[in-house]
Amino acid sequence: MLNRIYGLGITLAIAGVPLVASADDLTRYRVFVGDHKAAKVTAFDLSDPQTHWLFDTAGQVKLYPVANGGAVVAVQSDDDQVNFIQSGIRVFDHGGHADIEISDPLALSEVLQGPRPFHLLDHDGHVSINFDKGGYAAVVDGYELTKGNLESQQVSQNVAHHGVVVPWHNGWLTSVASEEPMDDGKAPPRVGVQQLSADGAAIGDLQACTNLHGEAYSGAYLMFGCKEGVLSVKQVSGKPQFKMLPYPESFPSGHTTGTLVGSKGMQAFLGNYGYEHLVVIDPEGQPTMQLVDLPFRRVDFQLDPVDVMHGYAFTENGALHKVSLLDAEIVQSIKVTQPYSMDGHWNDPRPRIAFAGDEILVTDPRQSLVHRISTKDLSKVGSVKVAGEPYNLTVVGGSGVSH
Ligand code: ZN
Ligand code: ZN
Repeated sequence: MLNRIYGLGITLAIAGVPLVASADDLTRYRVFVGDHKAAKVTAFDLSDPQTHWLFDTAGQVKLYPVANGGAVVAVQSDDDQVNFIQSGIRVFDHGGHADIEISDPLALSEVLQGPRPFHLLDHDGHVSINFDKGGYAAVVDGYELTKGNLESQQVSQNVAHHGVVVPWHNGWLTSVASEEPMDDGKAPPRVGVQQLSADGAAIGDLQACTNLHGEAYSGAYLMFGCKEGVLSVKQVSGKPQFKMLPYPESFPSGHTTGTLVGSKGMQAFLGNYGYEHLVVIDPEGQPTMQLVDLPFRRVDFQLDPVDVMHGYAFTENGALHKVSLLDAEIVQSIKVTQPYSMDGHWNDPRPRIAFAGDEILVTDPRQSLVHRISTKDLSKVGSVKVAGEPYNLTVVGGSGVSH
């Protein structure tokens, strides 16, 4: 066997592909799962789910991988706290191959506290966390997090609101809310986007984006969901060029896009359009927006980071649907869990999905399980028992050479 691998290596080397000793080749995915009720995060490796690590938090978490998976951020909106965990898996470019370094995950002792942390965006090494009742975003250095250091700065907004600050070419783009007085501490409505210099001074005009909600990067573009359509931003001649892409006439009226995910592997976005549709967006494509019909209301959706031509939606009947981005249609569906109705509170325990290489992981809070589904044929690979009510999750890792 060794001989055969060695022989293959020589063949590859002749063909100009770097020679890689397969004994050092490692693939590792580490899963972080937040509980719906208990203030904790459970972490385990997919290759050894019996071994797990537990991290205490102040409350329920939404989990985000940042700094290329080197760290995980646990945002606790109802408990005014953000925790940070060094993931223990670092995958980085080593020229012709990727390197992987693996150690135990480790929580930073320092936390961020502030009024109602909510949306998080990670871009260009900046991890921006909006504090909705503070009127600012804390921007954390992603690379320092992977080394266990918490370094943050604040970017101020016009008024406190449920918004976002986005790193943009040595400065920022921030959501802007109405400055009219509001009743009973209600959050003011969002009206648009403003460019800020690195030190927070406004540059140029406010760009209208009524009810701004949802933001994502892909390729050269940044997108925001708005009532009028989807606002695209691209840097042209040293300045952000804003363009509103209206919802097509053919789309059912009365809905908007309020959540967006952006592809890393190609220029494409997947958004919601109300509860029963997704929209595939290519800012330079024709058509720009394509509607995907879902058979039931959506619970969660994501883009496959490996097979970039597909995304997945999980719907309230307990089914997972594979969506072709090219044809904007469902190509395969399977039943994964019991139904989880979208009636009731928005934050009731319901499944969430995340990717681990060629598997999709689905939390099943009622059964205390994380299901593993193959992206190849949607077959069930197995499931992992996670005590409590597994809810939000994220996965870090990948493959590389350990040397
Ligand atoms: Zn290397
Ligand atoms: Zn939101």
